Amino acid sequence: MTRALITGITGQDGLYLAELLLKKGYEVHGLIRGQNNPRRELVEKLVPEVHLHNGDLTDLSSLMRALRESDPQEVYNLGAVSFVAFSWENAFVTSDVTALGVLNILEAVRLHAGDDPGSIRFYQASSSEMFGKVHEVPQKESTLLWPRSPYGVSKVYGHYMTINYRESYGMHASSGILFNHESPRRGEEFVTRKVSKAVAAIKLGRQKEIVMGNLDARRDWGFAGDYVEAMWRMLQQDEADDYVISTGETHSIEELLDVAFTHVGIDDWRPYVRQDPRFMRPAEVDLLIGDSTKAREVLDWKPTVAFPDLVKMMVDSDLAALQSGW
Ligand code: GDP
Repeated sequence: MTRALITGITGQDGLYLAELLLKKGYEVHGLIRGQNNPRRELVEKLVPEVHLHNGDLTDLSSLMRALRESDPQEVYNLGAVSFVAFSWENAFVTSDVTALGVLNILEAVRLHAGDDPGSIRFYQASSSEMFGKVHEVPQKESTLLWPRSPYGVSKVYGHYMTINYRESYGMHASSGILFNHESPRRGEEFVTRKVSKAVAAIKLGRQKEIVMGNLDARRDWGFAGDYVEAMWRMLQQDEADDYVISTGETHSIEELLDVAFTHVGIDDWRPYVRQDPRFMRPAEVDLLIGDSTKAREVLDWKPTVAFPDLVKMMVDSDLAALQSGW
């Protein structure tokens, strides 16, 4: 039985990946942080088969212990402080976890693997935020990285450190440059979920308006369930490498609002949306759109959920949750 260790098991991607690996017959281990982590219950409910280990990406000894206890053949590093807007006000903690945390887990994996550094396959969750002030449209693996937030800068560090461990020690370390990926499990601070939840509440008469930031920003949004499949495929390759994972389509926040509101029968969303500088960012990533040709050719991967269907899935899920009194 293949054993996998996932950091960030409590997040959207950790949960989808755990479900995928369990379905494939893996023994799945997850790293969980902090005393009384409020997300532990959710993990235990959704994926009760997962073995949880206490640990923190900032604490090398806890990572060594989790590796010793789980002895995995595959390690997926999905743990991060991941909300871009938060990263300006919390630049240090973001760097500590999202950048130096990668060094810690790479080092722990290298030490645990001993004489055969390639024996543990490693996945690093890199991000399209690394492209930031984009130097090329669409963005691919070779596009110059120009991050625009402390989060993006931290992800660049993790990305290059992963490549460096691959080149320096022969580790099977791959990096997935994932464009935005969403689902009903997306955190409510992210714009897709913020909109889906608010639109459901407005439809049910429980909320009057949504207060938003920049409506012109554009993103390449895919479905998280599809994206964890790509992570797994990367680790099944003979050679470790880096891959962009994206849909290749870009949509604006306005289009997101159009699809979500139209889905609940509201044709004009403007009376329900107010803009507030509070939600504007000191620097913006304006046009993210990914070229995932390499992943499509080498990994035989492609997205299966189109943007409108993704938004509708999220609104329907929030409607159902609100109606059931959740
Ligand atoms: P990110 O790509 O990881 O930063 O994902 P987000 O979902 O947090 O943000 C996507 C884009 O939506 C960014 O360009 C934001 O500026 C824009 N946006 C506009 N209004 C909002 C809002 O109210 N909340 C969030 N989170 N983003 C917003």
